[in-house]
Amino acid sequence: MTKYDYDLFTIGAGSGGVRAARVAAGYGARVGIAEEFRVGGTCVIRGCVPKKLFVYASEFGHGFREARGFGWSADNVRFDWSKLIENKDDEIDRLNGVYIRNLKNSGVDIVDSRATVKDQHTVHLVKENRDITADKILIATGGAPFIDQNVPGHDLGITSNDVFHLEKMPHHVVVVGGGYIAIEFACIFRGLGCEVCLVYRGEDILRYFDRDISVQVHEELKRQGVRVITQTTLEKIEPLNGEEKRIHLSNGNHIDADLIFWAVGRNPATKDLGLEKAGVELTKNGAVMVDEYSKSSVDNIYAVGDVTDRVALTPVAIREGSAFAETCFNDNPTDVDYRFIPKAVFSQPPVGTVGYAEHEARKKFKAVDIYKSDFRPMKNTLSGSEARTLMKIVVNAENDQVVGCHIVGHDAAEMIQCIAIAIKAGVTKKQFDDTVALHPTAAEELVTMREKYKPNV
Ligand code: NDP
Repeated sequence: MTKYDYDLFTIGAGSGGVRAARVAAGYGARVGIAEEFRVGGTCVIRGCVPKKLFVYASEFGHGFREARGFGWSADNVRFDWSKLIENKDDEIDRLNGVYIRNLKNSGVDIVDSRATVKDQHTVHLVKENRDITADKILIATGGAPFIDQNVPGHDLGITSNDVFHLEKMPHHVVVVGGGYIAIEFACIFRGLGCEVCLVYRGEDILRYFDRDISVQVHEELKRQGVRVITQTTLEKIEPLNGEEKRIHLSNGNHIDADLIFWAVGRNPATKDLGLEKAGVELTKNGAVMVDEYSKSSVDNIYAVGDVTDRVALTPVAIREGSAFAETCFNDNPTDVDYRFIPKAVFSQPPVGTVGYAEHEARKKFKAVDIYKSDFRPMKNTLSGSEARTLMKIVVNAENDQVVGCHIVGHDAAEMIQCIAIAIKAGVTKKQFDDTVALHPTAAEELVTMREKYKPNV
């Protein structure tokens, strides 16, 4: 028995915090966890899960049209926004309940309150206005979307925190940004039938990805009727009648829309948490600085997930949470391997990617071979859709190892999860070639690319 109320107190019950709390409790630790919003965190409550449900809803928008080519008549189909919101809310409530039950079954005390750090071993529970003490404190508060406050009228727009609770479906949406959330929601709204305009400050959307991915997704957005305006920022937003707003752009034009959706990034949620006072060092953008075992600059305070600004993805936060609990409560120092993490953007069609982009590989390795295939998938021969599939393999030419794979097309995310296993295990291009194709699939293209890609220079 230690002199503290808890062996571990976790602030934030999202993916990372919940995993850490449950694993630590499983090793016999006395664990408490505080959550100011809803147990489940961003991923479950207002991120990955409701987003994917919206993606499914939106895909039907294309599906009904494309079904005609296969003999179906799907006339007079209607979409009911409030039904989608209601069913989505039910599912999120169910998952929230599962998370709460799992914590309780693991013996973790849940506190429904904002919590702040008072000193190295004391946490203040704001709602209950009381302090508790803990041997170890884990910061797992995640991140929060931000808005560009320099734009006059910026608060006429919403963020991903609000988008899952809109009372009505918008007619004309302006999405600001060119990253994950911007691209996914541009496609969601377009599939549901809205007019969509994407305003991005740079040249290439999804600029952290392989450039072929970025170009392909840009083309697919245009093909679906999303108006993509690049190298442009917002100058000012002003209210018009009713829900309408006028967005003045840096290119001198303006757009009228009833929804402005800021998707310009997320910041680590450390504001007013009391961390600096407790001696915890933060980076310039407010992330908790941690070592490879997720330990902060204070010996007994740790942090996992988006609040550390390492790789802001749910499965990574979960791994960091487990590794922390292994290290601190099972006497088994465990770090997280960040190599070859598969990633997806749930655009339509989706992106799946793992490993080095071509430009990264060319910097890292002496010689690189590229294999590329860009084709019309079989389904689209009858569906009438002009959407194409792109597959690209990046090979370290010195040892034939496949170091990157990038796909835009149906089921890209599903394919990449499996390819990631092989790539992480060190698969060579020859082993890809030695694998018999599975016909007829799109994925067979991955094992039948023989010609090295030669750019037209
Ligand atoms: P991203 O970092 O992906 O994209 C932010 C975008 O906003 C970039 O295009 C950026 O431009 C632009 N931007 C930044 N500041 C401004 C500004 N002041 N004015 C105009 N544009 C600006 O962030 P997201 O919010 O889309 O997503 C946050 C994180 O959440 C992601 O990085 C990802 O880790 C995670 N996520 C993962 C998903 C998935 O796995 N499918 C889905 C959704 C989120 P520039 O490119 O020039 O920097």
